[in-house]
Amino acid sequence: MRATDIADQLSTVLVTEEQIHAKLEELAEQVAADYDGSELLLVGVLKGAVMVMADFSRRLPRHISMDWMAVSSYGAGTKSSGVVQIRKDLDTDLTGKHVLIVEDIIDSGLTLSWLLENFASRGAESVEVLALLRKPEAAKVEIDCRYVGFDIPNDFVVGYGLDYAEKYRNLRDVAVLAPHIYS
Ligand code: 5GP
Ligand code: MG
Ligand code: MG
Repeated sequence: MRATDIADQLSTVLVTEEQIHAKLEELAEQVAADYDGSELLLVGVLKGAVMVMADFSRRLPRHISMDWMAVSSYGAGTKSSGVVQIRKDLDTDLTGKHVLIVEDIIDSGLTLSWLLENFASRGAESVEVLALLRKPEAAKVEIDCRYVGFDIPNDFVVGYGLDYAEKYRNLRDVAVLAPHIYS
């Protein structure tokens, strides 16, 4: 696929790579200060959070542990089904751990509210959420998210880990997918 082909499929760049990196730097400083002296487990939600996890975790000036979970609520479409399935569970016992869930985006909030409930029963000492993006207008349930990168409009976005049918994850910016691609 040529670069011009990709440009045809996107309508606007919402958040640039530079903005993302500056924000992750800020969030890493906050997290480092907030968890000073305590052990921290980062839990990335596959696959969308891969880029956020990689860039955020490497900005933390300390040792952390890392684990991954894969859940599905979207399938190949663009709307949350609200039905969450565990595709890959954690390898780590959460008992007594300070857990920070690392997410790409909070849309309806249904996935995270399900995850938070699921984690609550595993005996973690604390569970907080870091999300690069959040769509306030799309919220169906309120999520108490301590670290948010950017609030964005209620459009379907791709890039920086976010896909449409497994494509566009490797775009460096976050962009709105042109509606003709999925309608
Ligand atoms: P939620 O349960 O909050 O509606 O969102 C669940 C997951 O759907 C998110 O973690 C993300 O992986 C995916 N998702 C939500 N909104 C978007 C979007 O605008 N673009 C893409 N590519 N994925 C999204
Ligand atoms: Mg996600
Ligand atoms: Mg997806």
